[in-house]
Amino acid sequence: TLGRLTEQAWERFDDYPSLFFEGRWYHSQELAERARRVAGGLAGLGVRPGDRVVVMMANCPEVGITYQALWRAGAAITPVVFLVSHDELRHILVDSGARLVVTTSEVLLTVQLAADGLDVPIVVAGDAPEGTIPYADLERADELPLVDRAEDDMAALMYTGGTTGRAKGVMLTHAGLYRASQSSQQAGRVPGLTRALIPLPLSHSFGLLTTLVGMHTDEPNVAVLMRWFDAKEWIRLAAEHRIQRCPLVPAMIHMLLAEPDFGRTPLPDLRYVVSGAAPLAREALEEFERRVPGVQILEGYGMTETCATTAVNRPGDRRIGSVGKPLPGYTVTIRDDEGRALPPGEDGEICIASDSLMLGYWHAEDATAAAMSDGELRSGDIGHLDEDGFLYIVDRKKDLIIRGGFNVFPRDVEDVLAEHPEVTMAGVVGRPDPKSGEEVVAFVSLVPGATVTPAELVEWTRERIGRIKYPREIHVVDSVPVTRVFKTDRKRLREMLKELPS
Ligand code: ATP
Ligand code: MG
Repeated sequence: TLGRLTEQAWERFDDYPSLFFEGRWYHSQELAERARRVAGGLAGLGVRPGDRVVVMMANCPEVGITYQALWRAGAAITPVVFLVSHDELRHILVDSGARLVVTTSEVLLTVQLAADGLDVPIVVAGDAPEGTIPYADLERADELPLVDRAEDDMAALMYTGGTTGRAKGVMLTHAGLYRASQSSQQAGRVPGLTRALIPLPLSHSFGLLTTLVGMHTDEPNVAVLMRWFDAKEWIRLAAEHRIQRCPLVPAMIHMLLAEPDFGRTPLPDLRYVVSGAAPLAREALEEFERRVPGVQILEGYGMTETCATTAVNRPGDRRIGSVGKPLPGYTVTIRDDEGRALPPGEDGEICIASDSLMLGYWHAEDATAAAMSDGELRSGDIGHLDEDGFLYIVDRKKDLIIRGGFNVFPRDVEDVLAEHPEVTMAGVVGRPDPKSGEEVVAFVSLVPGATVTPAELVEWTRERIGRIKYPREIHVVDSVPVTRVFKTDRKRLREMLKELPS
């Protein structure tokens, strides 16, 4: 189980300074010792094997310590990204039946609003006001002996991004998560590249996987952890610590590109950036690599249900525009609506078999049965493989627009619009239409001082993607809505569409 494996991993490099956070180094020995006490503290608060505990903290060493303490106590972690609203958090608290919430002072208010009226005690790392439990109290407890669990027991109840509907609870096992982290480590390993900068929320599935890779490393490495992402601070830390590798999400890449200092401060040690969780525009990848000579962006693809990364481009073996080849332990098959496997080059639903798949959705047997059969998960994403096994993501199945009997993927239209020099971002959805079935509608945001008109943009896209797919209706908005993990929020766009005078 992860409790035992993490304990062993931390023992292996016990006096190695492995973690740097806000001016101080942390050794594995210290982390392990604190986790043993925190486990005792949690047990003292009534946490029992099999319980779920919500961990919604800004990044800090206590996140990893809390995960390990919970595994040690036989409980499951329910990590929640600190950016969620109190509404979303309340849904998670109720749905998971959380025993306890562990948080940090920055997000306490959200937690208090979410837990209002529920019987869920709140533990706070940092300033703990009246009515909450100071994290420091947990650390004063006696060490808890490791509680053993089966490797197929739930180690994490992780909630999905909530991009297409209400966030769903995903049951991930000890063995599944461990195998996933080993696969990622194997795929990305470059001997000697040991200094990483971690700006991802450790509570997102990509961040959790990154945490596990860091914990269960087979060579001593250094992680410089950021409380949260900030472009200027990222540049400063990357330079100061001579960072060699870094996981990022596309939104962070865009924020770096918007920072004038990015590229001026030399980052000669930076070799690889792994990007995942949402599509990365080709222009962004190219500009990033132009501004930091020597770096390669490796795009990957994953989902909460597969313990994150499923495919990724490897150092020395990448294809731009693809999300790489499946990781060891993952098999990707592209299927049509009847479930038949499709040959290379043909688009269909991405189906994933792996021994790291979720056990199922929490308390949702119907949803589980709809998504999983014969050990294979239907991802809900459309894509294809090429002859050499590289995977290409086209779009989400749910967002497909069928116009006059032809399939239109919103992302194709968004990409063309985004190529216009005056367009900063585009979001595309379908509007039900009595004649064509559905019409393609675009929302765009423009650069300051832009002069292009919607009619000109309609013409621009028509010339480039042809008469079937071009949007007949384009609306200029201040900003195209994104979800809390910065994916284009097409749910919100569909609402905006309804609010428009027609
Ligand atoms: P929900 O399932 O609640 O609607 P979500 O699918 O956004 O939310 P996650 O599990 O965090 O929640 O995200 C996985 C999804 O993110 C994938 O199914 C895919 O649609 C998208 N994704 C991940 N990586 C990439 C990528 N490199 N390119 C395009 N899409 C990606
Ligand atoms: Mg999903």
